[in-house]
Amino acid sequence: MALSDISRVEIEKAIEECNRIGRAAFLKAYGFRPARRYLLVHEGKQYDSKAIVGAAHGFLPGERPLTPSTPGFSGGAEHAARFLKRLGFDVVAEEPAQDGPDHDELIRRITRMKANRSASHRALYKPIALLWAMGRAHRGEPRLLAWTETEAALQLLLRRHGLRGERLRPDYPIASLHREGVWELRDFTDPVTTAHGDAKVKRWFDTNQPRGGLAEPVYDLFRRSIVTRLAVIDELVDTFFEGLDPTPLLSEVGLVGIDPAEPRTGSGRTPERWLLTAAEYERGCAFVEEREAQTHGRRSTGTTSRPIRSRTARYLVLSRSRGRCENPDCTGQPADVTDDDHPILEVDHVLDLTRGGRDHPSQMVALCPNCHAVKTRGRTREALREILLRVAQERHAAGGGGAVGPGVAR
Ligand SMILES: [Zn+2]
Repeated sequence: MALSDISRVEIEKAIEECNRIGRAAFLKAYGFRPARRYLLVHEGKQYDSKAIVGAAHGFLPGERPLTPSTPGFSGGAEHAARFLKRLGFDVVAEEPAQDGPDHDELIRRITRMKANRSASHRALYKPIALLWAMGRAHRGEPRLLAWTETEAALQLLLRRHGLRGERLRPDYPIASLHREGVWELRDFTDPVTTAHGDAKVKRWFDTNQPRGGLAEPVYDLFRRSIVTRLAVIDELVDTFFEGLDPTPLLSEVGLVGIDPAEPRTGSGRTPERWLLTAAEYERGCAFVEEREAQTHGRRSTGTTSRPIRSRTARYLVLSRSRGRCENPDCTGQPADVTDDDHPILEVDHVLDLTRGGRDHPSQMVALCPNCHAVKTRGRTREALREILLRVAQERHAAGGGGAVGPGVAR
């Protein structure tokens, strides 16, 4: 290992690679975990300092990338951070996490729910409970409910949407979500049971009648962030609904039509609803990339024949478009809107997914039906594809902002 041989040139090559393949894929490729504390800041973007240094080492002639277990390099992120500072880079120490799970931690906890699914029986009770509660948060309904109300609502949903043979037992998933820190339970006398013993769990809920609901930080995230909602829906649908149509459930809990735009606040089209902060855009993309990495792995095992499309990616593209066709040469999209008051736009994957294109905003555009038809069937489609790919990349690089399409004021 020759850390001191690394110069700014190799660091910048590693940064460039990270930008090109995305953070999740980059970390995976080099075997690093996301930085907990020290972040390299370069041209306004943040990077995992230790992973960047490890990757940079591989750009030295005849050298290999350093891994977290390379002797002498395993000694902590602080070392990498100091080294980057010496080369003149900006390194910031991230704030310690607040009291509740943030977006990433929440997604991680929900992803871990996979482990609870046995091969023979894909229980839907947990995703059903979570989606029901998410629908309530989305509508701003009270976070905590009496146990009788929670139980009645979930029993109804389980009867309609649970798998055949699945028990109508809301206590079990709620106890499990509570253990994972996602669900808060209040006003009980006995300590909460953590036993897997079946009858015990039900008895505990019957006796204690806890008020409960989503943990406050989770509720707040669901309430205020459409990206979080879509990311969690993507994750749950992906994990639990393979081969099943989640639409009837999503529709019953009020989570259909939450994309492409925020709920209507009044009549008419309000430009505010297209506002998406760069941070939110970036967060959404990070999730899309993480999921992309998993999906690719899964597809290669042959269990999934059809690419799974991300609701989050679609939403990010529609928001980015601010309701306007993203073809710079568009001659005009329909002035009409749909019954839901949405502009008539279609999200297109510029490079065909079946031929290696990515389900990622950097390769997707929002098009009006005319431009979409030209892009699919027109003689000029190859030239248009080049233009659209550039538009997608530029707007993506601008963090969802950037140039606005034709016909848009400002
Ligand atoms: Zn158009």
